[in-house]
Amino acid sequence: MIKFLDLQKINQQYQEELKQAAARVIDSGWYLLGSETELFETNYAAFCGSKFALGVANGLDALRLIFKAYIELGIMQKGDEVIIPANTYIASVLAVTDNGLVPVLVEPNITTYNLDTTKIEQAITSKTKAILTVHLYGQNSIDNNMLAICKKHKLKLVEDSAQSHGATFKGQVMGNIGDATGHSFYPGKNLGALGDAGAVTTNDEALYNVIKALGNYGSIKKYENKYQGLNSRLDEIQAAFLNVKLKYIDIDIQNRRNVANYYLENINNPLITLPTVLNQEGHVWHLFVVRLPHREILQNYLLENGVQTLIHYPIPPHKQMAYNELSHLNLPVTEKIHNEVLSLPISAVLTQEEVEKVVKLVNSFKI
Ligand SMILES: *Cc1c(COP(=O)(O)O)cnc(C)c1O
Repeated sequence: MIKFLDLQKINQQYQEELKQAAARVIDSGWYLLGSETELFETNYAAFCGSKFALGVANGLDALRLIFKAYIELGIMQKGDEVIIPANTYIASVLAVTDNGLVPVLVEPNITTYNLDTTKIEQAITSKTKAILTVHLYGQNSIDNNMLAICKKHKLKLVEDSAQSHGATFKGQVMGNIGDATGHSFYPGKNLGALGDAGAVTTNDEALYNVIKALGNYGSIKKYENKYQGLNSRLDEIQAAFLNVKLKYIDIDIQNRRNVANYYLENINNPLITLPTVLNQEGHVWHLFVVRLPHREILQNYLLENGVQTLIHYPIPPHKQMAYNELSHLNLPVTEKIHNEVLSLPISAVLTQEEVEKVVKLVNSFKI
């Protein structure tokens, strides 16, 4: 069986170093807000090229804290609107609504699956304060048009980089282009911890300081609370694991690109639409997503032949029970994508034999 994602095999590559990292933390007697987290924050800021990186508990919190901080700073207030791609993982939308902000869902581009930047301006009102752009499946979603719109309408650009560690736009790494970026290190992400973990990167010192306090009970000084914060910190043990895995992220990305390029060059089934790559450096292939009507038939065919696939994602946010108030929206591109996408196995530990097997099966698929 070719697993969709073999996390055991991925982490076995670094087994010795991970065990040493865990032992170091266990023996240190210090488990939160310590030297491993500081080191990771320094390393990760350097990786993104940003001035600041702050470890937090998970990717959702990273995004949640960014908007909460903008509210504390008086830059946004409850009821303000945030433009979000309609086809994203639910966490992007939760980060907005959790802060009493209003998500304005905009259709994606059918070829890149990212925000259609030609449709942003028509969604802007006097209440619009930000764009939350999602680099879905690992591909950069920023273009000159988006940057110009942010400038013209004085909008904050917040990036959801949960799937795109290391992807670039004009040589700049995701997490250093917008005003603030949320990153996730959920185990299945390209840079994955061995549990929950996340980070915020920004070049805005005032924002950084507020987020840092908010994630630690709103406290700047112990037992003195400036804000009504929450508890969202990166554990020392997860930071220690991430310090190990960050060293290998560039190799991981290269291996993913090799798998993706093999798929792109060799899958030639006319029933199947392959992903569009705008720029090699702009895509880190968190997921390799193909599209076809009746994708369940292909999914079953692959499974019967020993290949696991997944669907990212089967139900768009506006059709979720949690967002009844959005269910009236007419978002045909988003719904088409959600009905047709299928994610093939991709990771740095897939073997050439496995990749070839997937290609042969996909090419032999008929309806
Ligand atoms: C994974 C993910 C998140 C949330 O990250 P967690 O660490 O799981 O909270 C947010 N947005 C997107 C696009 C994601 O894929």
